[in-house]
Amino acid sequence: MLPTEVMAIAQSELVNWNGMGVSVMEISHRSKEFVALAKQAELDLRQLMNIPDNYKVLFMHGGGRAQFTNVVTNFLGDNGRALYLTSGQWSRSAIKEAKLIAGEDAIDEMNIVEKDDDKSKVVLPDLEQLKQAGQKQYRYVHYCPNETVDGIEIFDELNSPWPVVADMSSTIMSREIDVSRYAVIYAGAQKNIGPSGLSIAIVRDDMLSLPKLTQSSVMDYSIAAQNDSMFNTPPTYAWYLASLVFKWLKKQGGVSQVAKVNQQKAELLYQCIDDNPFYKNGVVASNRSRMNVTFQLADSSLDQAFLQQAEEHGLLTLKGHRIVGGMRASIYNAMPLEGVQALVKFMQAFAKANS
Ligand SMILES: *Cc1c(COP(=O)(O)O)cnc(C)c1O
Repeated sequence: MLPTEVMAIAQSELVNWNGMGVSVMEISHRSKEFVALAKQAELDLRQLMNIPDNYKVLFMHGGGRAQFTNVVTNFLGDNGRALYLTSGQWSRSAIKEAKLIAGEDAIDEMNIVEKDDDKSKVVLPDLEQLKQAGQKQYRYVHYCPNETVDGIEIFDELNSPWPVVADMSSTIMSREIDVSRYAVIYAGAQKNIGPSGLSIAIVRDDMLSLPKLTQSSVMDYSIAAQNDSMFNTPPTYAWYLASLVFKWLKKQGGVSQVAKVNQQKAELLYQCIDDNPFYKNGVVASNRSRMNVTFQLADSSLDQAFLQQAEEHGLLTLKGHRIVGGMRASIYNAMPLEGVQALVKFMQAFAKANS
């Protein structure tokens, strides 16, 4: 979802932005008006996430998956190695891409999800000990704090002697994050930032001097930084919409306020699942995602009926990812509490009617 308020503003300004008589899509990205928009968006994001001055904020192309490649090409030149922690579908996709670019030998993998009483649970590794025990040096450790497909979220901080790179595509601005603990945070835009296509990389300055692999200039963090993210034409309309989302977030009281609502939304939904034997969720309470609530119907033969009736109630895209099946409610920042309340009401009624 995008906030309705944001789309209404975009609609009202569509053909006449900033009193210029043209759309923001039609002006040059190098015009002083667009450059001002871009600068303000960066400032707002810096403020929302409390990003320290020694980090670059890069607005790039290609979504989250482009960053899977970018971190490898920007940091693993000169036979560099990296450690990837696996917690679900997205971290596995990042590993696959990293191996494709850097080669199998450059990437070490470590699974961090265990089953505890048949529930998935994240166990963070002691990386300091690993460093002391082994000869391996990693340029970075990569992990994914929120796995949308598996409904798993990692709230604990990862302690690492190596720089931490995090795929925050579905975590960014959903709750407060201490940016200074990370070397790189990246995110595709389409969850909590704006429309798809745009991606954001927040890169600590010292990371820019690591040896690079040969890569396309549009993927190069240093070139993006030197050119204020305008080495080539950026996705300007997505950037504009992101700028409106940042303003909207500030108006909501910033990330700390939105985080409270997000927690409330998630608790309400998990409560409904736990209270009703008709539904189940396979993740321990401490790792349940606040953005993507996965659940199964105890009787999966009712899945189709559930989805169809939900849709009739205006409750859309509840089908779980094809790999895991079941249901998934994605409740990103723009989803209001009322949306979750409506879902809970429907789930209770459906359970009652079919028990
Ligand atoms: C949604 C998501 C992505 C998406 O990548 P795109 O290339 O933008 O489709 C990547 N990682 C995570 C953790 C996500 O939630």
